[in-house]
Amino acid sequence: MRFNTRVLHSTFPADPYGSTLPPVYQVSAFAHESAETLERVFDNKQPGFAYTRISNPTVAAFEKRMAVIEGGFDAVSCASGMAAVSMALLNILQSGDEIIAGSGLFGGTLDLFADLQLLGITVKFVSDVTAEKIEAQITPNTKVIFAELIGNPRLDVVNIAEVAKTANSHGIPLIIDGTTATPALVNPLELGAHIVVHSSSKYINGSGDAISGVIVDGARMNWDFERFPALLKYRKFGKLAYTARLRQDLWRNFGACIAPQNAWLNTVGLETLGIRMERLCKNALELAEYLSESGTLENVNYPGLEKSPYSALVKKQFESGCGGAILTIRTGSKERAFKLINSLKYAKIATNIGDVRTLVIHPASTIYAHSSGEQRQNAEVYDDLIRISIGLENIEDLKEDFTQAIDKMNREAS
Ligand SMILES: *Cc1c(COP(=O)(O)O)cnc(C)c1O
Repeated sequence: MRFNTRVLHSTFPADPYGSTLPPVYQVSAFAHESAETLERVFDNKQPGFAYTRISNPTVAAFEKRMAVIEGGFDAVSCASGMAAVSMALLNILQSGDEIIAGSGLFGGTLDLFADLQLLGITVKFVSDVTAEKIEAQITPNTKVIFAELIGNPRLDVVNIAEVAKTANSHGIPLIIDGTTATPALVNPLELGAHIVVHSSSKYINGSGDAISGVIVDGARMNWDFERFPALLKYRKFGKLAYTARLRQDLWRNFGACIAPQNAWLNTVGLETLGIRMERLCKNALELAEYLSESGTLENVNYPGLEKSPYSALVKKQFESGCGGAILTIRTGSKERAFKLINSLKYAKIATNIGDVRTLVIHPASTIYAHSSGEQRQNAEVYDDLIRISIGLENIEDLKEDFTQAIDKMNREAS
């Protein structure tokens, strides 16, 4: 089955009424016939549900779909994308461990890394996530390589197959934040990544109506249990040890669960992910080309543009050569950036991506407000930069809107 068919027709639990979507089990707890039954459910000796922080049928339905479309063994959903990133890392890290990560990361993840430093987990940043740059930073304490598939908002693209090879040769798991690319464009696990995390608040949900995240385990990692003591207790699960610990231990104990209603909204969103990404990518490319050719902006960055250094990789790695649905533009100054943003009629000024609506933001004064000058520099978040998360509007309307807003900026701002 191809992607859209797989999303709609992979086998999911049958419903007695033939309902086409999983019901929303909006409950905290599940009652059982007897104390013995509940004992067996608690001990994983009998399938069943006990408490929604641990598992819930609506949540399980979403997780199953995520695992299927990512080509993973299992998916664990979380309260937010940040919860997913946190749990994915803390599941295997402890004080003294090191992470190697790209420097052009999402602002929230950079802030999280500062929190991890206080726990004794250090992060070594590489300017580009390439095998060569990573190789130079590996030490015996390196326990994770972490990268965003399409950096947000730097828009650098990681060559997963190449980086996975390096990770594998050192027995280090590669964790990919696939939020900006989505499984509609690429399955990082199939290219060699070990774990994929998503902020499903974004494209997976698709309508901007629920915050959530998800961790998908490919179960392809040969864990060295001496090097990853957190997994030692789960050694008997072999390649499944990562998810076993997550579910039975860390994620459950941190209470990072998703709400059933949000899991359901994501399940609905998933059904149109393929077709939305197709249209969003098309809109993004058209607007990027149009703005590049207009000649009035300092710079237009979109990985799908011919002139982009990632153009060849995008064509090779992503479905239909689609470069994602985010582009950035440089306007010349913060004042001009603000004028342009305020002059747009259709684009909402909001800190989100992956909505059906076009969203714009000035990252330097918002998402990166807590970052140091150096962090902003590394993430290529300039004072005149605007991030555009393209929506499903008709492209001619977006072109007209950007044209009038750029004209206004050129007339009224310096
Ligand atoms: C939004 C985002 C996150 C965080 O997700 P939340 O759902 O907002 O917690 C993490 N990574 C990337 C790439 C994101 O865009």
